[in-house]
Amino acid sequence: MRFDVVVVGGGSTGSSIAYYLASRGAGKIALVEKQRVGWGQTGRSTAVVRMHYSTEPLIRMALESWKILRDMEKAVGGPSGFTEVGFLIFAGPEDLDGLKRNVELQKKLGVETRLLDPEEVEEILPHVSTEGLAAAAYEPHSGYADPVTTAQTYASAAVREGLVLMEDCEVSSVRRQGRRILGLETSKGLLEADVVVNATGVWCNRFFEMTGVEMPVKIYREEIVVWKRPARFEGNHPVVGDLPNNYYMRPAGETQTYMGSINPDLSKPGRYATDFDLEERVGIETATKYGEAVSKRFPVMAEAGFAGGWVGLYDVTPDWLPVIGFSQDVENLFNAVGMSGHGFKLCPAIGILASDIIMGKKTSIIDPLFLHEKRFTEKRYATSSYRYGVIS
Ligand SMILES: Cc1cc2nc3c(=O)[nH]c(=O)nc-3n(C[C@H](O)[C@H](O)[C@H](O)COP(=O)(O)OP(=O)(O)OC[C@H]3O[C@@H](n4cnc5c(N)ncnc54)[C@H](O)[C@@H]3O)c2cc1C
Repeated sequence: MRFDVVVVGGGSTGSSIAYYLASRGAGKIALVEKQRVGWGQTGRSTAVVRMHYSTEPLIRMALESWKILRDMEKAVGGPSGFTEVGFLIFAGPEDLDGLKRNVELQKKLGVETRLLDPEEVEEILPHVSTEGLAAAAYEPHSGYADPVTTAQTYASAAVREGLVLMEDCEVSSVRRQGRRILGLETSKGLLEADVVVNATGVWCNRFFEMTGVEMPVKIYREEIVVWKRPARFEGNHPVVGDLPNNYYMRPAGETQTYMGSINPDLSKPGRYATDFDLEERVGIETATKYGEAVSKRFPVMAEAGFAGGWVGLYDVTPDWLPVIGFSQDVENLFNAVGMSGHGFKLCPAIGILASDIIMGKKTSIIDPLFLHEKRFTEKRYATSSYRYGVIS
């Protein structure tokens, strides 16, 4: 079968790219997914949607994406599950300058956000301990969404625009000649395309290997713990990112909270998703460690019940920002990988940006060079106001 564009990977990244290509008239498009749409790391995401970033391009992308996720029915014709609960990021004295800088930059770019002193934080979060807290930044209109629903909304909307959706279809090898991909061998036959989009997430190094391309993406393991909150802490709470205590948390309904780390354990990087056991259970050791961290900020959480958890993987680049753009080595390969643990909230902007570049349009969101892989060969890494991590 021959297509104008074949997108490999039906996570939030690939589904969004496929939708914007199909809906903007890029021709005959296929979305190829070895499992089902949203069953990769998208399905393991806590799906926090915030606009706090250190650089202008990422803030622009997060703002554009938030607008679409918030109004997904109107923008794309299906739900995203966006829930506005607000987002607070806590900084100690060491991160105060970075926090202030980011908030100023966000305001300049049109994000509704403000700095809060510890007393103001207590007004929003009655259970909080503000010990060691220099200030917080507050985005009242941020929150979280449903990542699988969002990916499925994009894929279904793309199908309505003529997309060929191929689930249970794995790309097993890549036919390359010189600087071009000629075709993809899949479990459903050979697919040929003018452009191949690699949106394979934590499986990207396997795809790069099949294509004969090098990319500095490492795979890291992350654990999410689910807490059953004590009765006196029930109801919705804002999403919280606590830099001094290295965790973030978001509500999951009225009684539960998902919790993960801002900087995961970087001591054991992998190259392939298969280096890790995705079915591994999150045990009492992790629950104890996370419980101690969250109870420092919310003493009431010492009474929370451990309600399980799951393991997820991040595809991490050297500067914790995605790689978006045509490959330097293979002219018809477009990469959208290295989401570095924070790619869900950016998926609408990534889809628009990728479709702009592939269709040869002038893109208005950011300068496409900012996220191009060239930055690694040119040692021009993006900077962060904090240590590199999911809040970059
Ligand atoms: C625990 C965890 C928490 C997170 N929390 C957040 C958060 O709060 N906010 C946020 O913005 N982001 C978060 N993220 C990151 C976010 O979920 C991802 O960056 C985002 O969903 C984009 O994923 P993706 O589409 O790039 O990859 P995936 O969803 O993994 O999609 C890639 C797809 O490619 C398919 N595939 C791979 N190889 C092949 C092949 N050879 N042939 C066919 N198909 C193939 C896979 O089956 C998979 O479905 C989190 C991630 C994890 C793991």
